[in-house]
Amino acid sequence: MADVWLRCSACGMEGDADLIHRCPSCGEPLDVCYDLAAVRRRVSPAQIASRPRGMWARHRELLPLPDGAPLDSLGEGSTPLVPAPRLGALLGVSHLYRKLESANSTGSFKDRQISVAVSKARAHGRSAFAITSSGNAAAAAAAYSSRRGARCFVWVGDTAPRPKVRPASRQVAHGTSGGRDAGASRGAAARESSASTRRRDG
Ligand SMILES: [Zn+2]
Repeated sequence: MADVWLRCSACGMEGDADLIHRCPSCGEPLDVCYDLAAVRRRVSPAQIASRPRGMWARHRELLPLPDGAPLDSLGEGSTPLVPAPRLGALLGVSHLYRKLESANSTGSFKDRQISVAVSKARAHGRSAFAITSSGNAAAAAAAYSSRRGARCFVWVGDTAPRPKVRPASRQVAHGTSGGRDAGASRGAAARESSASTRRRDG
């Protein structure tokens, strides 16, 4: 765990991976940084390849959760590589492969990041989640929250196509709400999430 820390994408501030989720100096998002040389000393590519399939089983040292922390997983990762010879020929690339991320549980690559986010939130004692998305991320957040029995608030813009919203609305426990723009939706999500946390704590 000492091999991972956070760095502000805007001002370069660095901090402990367990403490914050936005830069305390400028409010911008934080990147996760790894001491790759230290990771290389702990585990080899051959060891990683010999592990069971799945994101958490194979790449534990490169994910920002403490050793032994409970994980929220729906079997994400280790999706197949599918040869794409005709596209490769068109592009002049030999041995071109596509990563079949639709093989993840909710059908998209978003399962990977939501699995990390929900597991990290659990490590911080959170019991409710909020997200603004009209598609794959919302469906993944709803599914992983549902798996935990946790509440999930999904904010969707009024203009989002219904077929994109439907997968999340099937699983989300606490409704969806419209908003004209992403900024307004993010604000509403943050307020409701904060209020929910206060209600839980009270
Ligand atoms: Zn900053």
